[in-house]
Amino acid sequence: MKKILVTGGSGFVGSHLCRRLLKEGNEVICLDNFFTGNKKNILDLIKNPFFELVRHDICEPYFAEVDEIYNLACPASPVHYQYNPIKTMKTSVLGAINTLGLAKRVKAKILQASTSEVYGDPKVHPQEENYWGHVNPIGIRSCYDEGKRCAETIFMDYNRQNDVEVKIIRIFNTYGPNMHPEDGRVVSNFIVQALKGENITIYGDGSQTRSFQYVDDLVEGMIRMMNSVSNFTGPVNIGNPVEFTMIALADLIIKLTSSNSKLVFLPLPSDDPKQRKPDISLAYENLNKWEPKVKLEEGLLVTIEYFKSILK
Ligand code: NAD
Ligand code: UDP
Repeated sequence: MKKILVTGGSGFVGSHLCRRLLKEGNEVICLDNFFTGNKKNILDLIKNPFFELVRHDICEPYFAEVDEIYNLACPASPVHYQYNPIKTMKTSVLGAINTLGLAKRVKAKILQASTSEVYGDPKVHPQEENYWGHVNPIGIRSCYDEGKRCAETIFMDYNRQNDVEVKIIRIFNTYGPNMHPEDGRVVSNFIVQALKGENITIYGDGSQTRSFQYVDDLVEGMIRMMNSVSNFTGPVNIGNPVEFTMIALADLIIKLTSSNSKLVFLPLPSDDPKQRKPDISLAYENLNKWEPKVKLEEGLLVTIEYFKSILK
């Protein structure tokens, strides 16, 4: 039985990861300050004696004897990470330093939940890991993008300087149950709007693209990355390479919810990337042929049921 620390464990992705790690027979410490996380996401785990919930802010050092660390603590949606941008940057940078310090002391393996945002508004399509990105360092998304880029730097320096076994994954847009209904991300917004019969808010002309990954595929990729050979540090893209425009996503969600909602067009937020699509060859080659299994329509149906249950 491994002892595993998941920072940000009561958030959307973290709650699925904790559940899967427990199911595989591990002991899990879920650390969270509940900024965007919610105890409801992990309510069913609290009675499990191998699950421990710790209220803690990762900007402060944390000590525990663990074998592995998944560092997920950080607000992920633009609405949440722009709410207090200085705190977002601190969470990425101090959170990386504190979790890496712990990993170094207890000789734990550590995985960083990085992001496709490190590519910014990419000039290369699809994005490969060796692309250095096109990121505005002073814009409204920079607290998140540059915070995550800086965290990647610190991870690689702890690896080179202190021999910490690090694993970096770059996560592309992920969706599924336990998403925050008001986090402003496109999948949750469109589903909630469609279920309530409200207008579907398309930012810009809706021709921008994203590729959407169902959360179970991400969790599988995270665990395979943690278990990969010790010298494979990444960064490695974990995302679904099937690309959709926001208009196509809205149409699909309207169809699946049988909604009467209409599309409305609002201004595009600044620095909004025009396209996003991961090249996943590196993950496929190094993570035992990892690739997403869940099709968008299939994942959306499960997610729609989740939102129906919480909007009742
Ligand atoms: P989320 O907001 O649901 O989860 C983040 C969790 O971290 C929350 O539970 C929050 O309370 C906690 N947290 C925030 N600041 C903290 C702090 N200072 N100390 C302790 N806990 C703190 O977001 P998510 O979608 O589950 O994302 C999880 C991770 O994956 C994040 O690091 C995010 O950057 C990364 N990621 C997610 C996506 C995605 O599409 N969901 C894409 C790229 C990267
Ligand atoms: N978007 C939209 N309507 C919404 C929310 C988002 O058209 O109600 C767009 C947004 O401008 C972006 C895309 O959907 O182009 C994905 O946005 P999200 O915030 O989900 O993710 P990110 O931009 O971080 O990839």
